[in-house]
Amino acid sequence: MKYRSLNGNAPIVDFREATIRGQAPDKGLYFPMEIPQLSPAFIAALPSMNKTALALQVMQPYVGNNIDTTSLEQIVAEAVDFEFPLVKINEQVYSLELFHGPTLAFKDVGARFMSRCLGHFSKAAYNKTTVLVATSGDTGGAVANGFLGVDGVEVIILYPSGKVSPVQELQLTTCGQNIKALEVAGSFDDCQAMVKDAFMDADLNGHLSLTSANSINVARWLPQQLYYFFAWQQWHQMGFKTAPVVSVPSGNFGNLCAGLMAHASGLPLQQFIAACNVNDAVPEYLQTGVYQPKTAVPTISNAMDVGSPSNFVRILELFAKDHGKMAATIAGYSISDEITQQTIAAVYQQDGYILDPHGAVAYEALAEYQVQHPTDKGIILETAHPVKFPETVEAAIGQKIPIPESVLPLFQQTKKSIPMQANFAALKDWLMAQ
Ligand SMILES: *Cc1c(COP(=O)(O)O)cnc(C)c1O
Repeated sequence: MKYRSLNGNAPIVDFREATIRGQAPDKGLYFPMEIPQLSPAFIAALPSMNKTALALQVMQPYVGNNIDTTSLEQIVAEAVDFEFPLVKINEQVYSLELFHGPTLAFKDVGARFMSRCLGHFSKAAYNKTTVLVATSGDTGGAVANGFLGVDGVEVIILYPSGKVSPVQELQLTTCGQNIKALEVAGSFDDCQAMVKDAFMDADLNGHLSLTSANSINVARWLPQQLYYFFAWQQWHQMGFKTAPVVSVPSGNFGNLCAGLMAHASGLPLQQFIAACNVNDAVPEYLQTGVYQPKTAVPTISNAMDVGSPSNFVRILELFAKDHGKMAATIAGYSISDEITQQTIAAVYQQDGYILDPHGAVAYEALAEYQVQHPTDKGIILETAHPVKFPETVEAAIGQKIPIPESVLPLFQQTKKSIPMQANFAALKDWLMAQ
């Protein structure tokens, strides 16, 4: 598979180079030159395919001959090595729980896949890659865990001091080994700006081989397609004859855009819902045809506090910039914090299911869609475990959230972070000394 830059002014590359670079030299996002088409035989075999075989078949065309089949099979097997259960909340809504990975967030699959690909490539090339990533909470933990112990890859995570939850902070500061956490005296936007400056700085790029680990990177973005296949398999096994509506809590739109890729490959899905908090640039575009990126507003679903979603350009590309086509496939909703909190409370009272704030945004968006389409049953993607957002969730349901056993050992560990001022000069000095 070849990849081109959506800014149209950079050389065409293969999967390996797209992964190592992260972003094209013209600052564009990489996009595959073609979208693989699933054969009717594949769709027929899908219901009974095991996770690894399925993941291998979906990912192979995107990787091409950059990774041999045996190694790729190992990589995908490790990337999807946990459960993705589809759980019934009530007659209308099912939850695809994407929080059973090691850091309880859906980003685990992409982070694990990307880290193993990079590890594979740096083994062959004997040069060290440095992954530099800013996090508002969930990315940091997933990346730290996914890259821990991967040879030839150093990971540096910037996070805003005091603005991530206790579980999130422990996940990203207790790994040690090849993972370093910089605790920035500033906001997430400061962290992101510092990382962006670093990617553009000639001295730094001469000194280190830097790459990103957010959904800009094709190796983190594309494996997220697998969720939609896992959802479809279980939907089918439950006996549903019509394709589901899928509601996706969205911030940078990597997850939703991955679902659209699966759909474009031929996976039968009826409709996508772009579920956003008040950061509503995409829902507004879907409604009006005018795209206006904004400054991010903080909310209780903070992993979706993105004013200018990076993957929007990929979605535009998928629909050949045709607003009508996009609006026919994706319905957009913007949900306030107040309604999100009410949704967590109501779903707990009615159905005994504990949503996290991101899942609650997806639930409410689907519910609003179903007012117009009462016969359409749907799936929400539950992207994080509620225990990662204890204050909001416990206030809504009026009791403590049971802590999953896998999290308990974290509380025995000691946070190790490096304090960092919120400016690029400080970061550069520190990086140049590495
Ligand atoms: C990252 C994240 C999202 C948003 O995903 P995008 O791919 O950026 O749209 C939603 N929910 C949670 C819990 C996340 O961590």
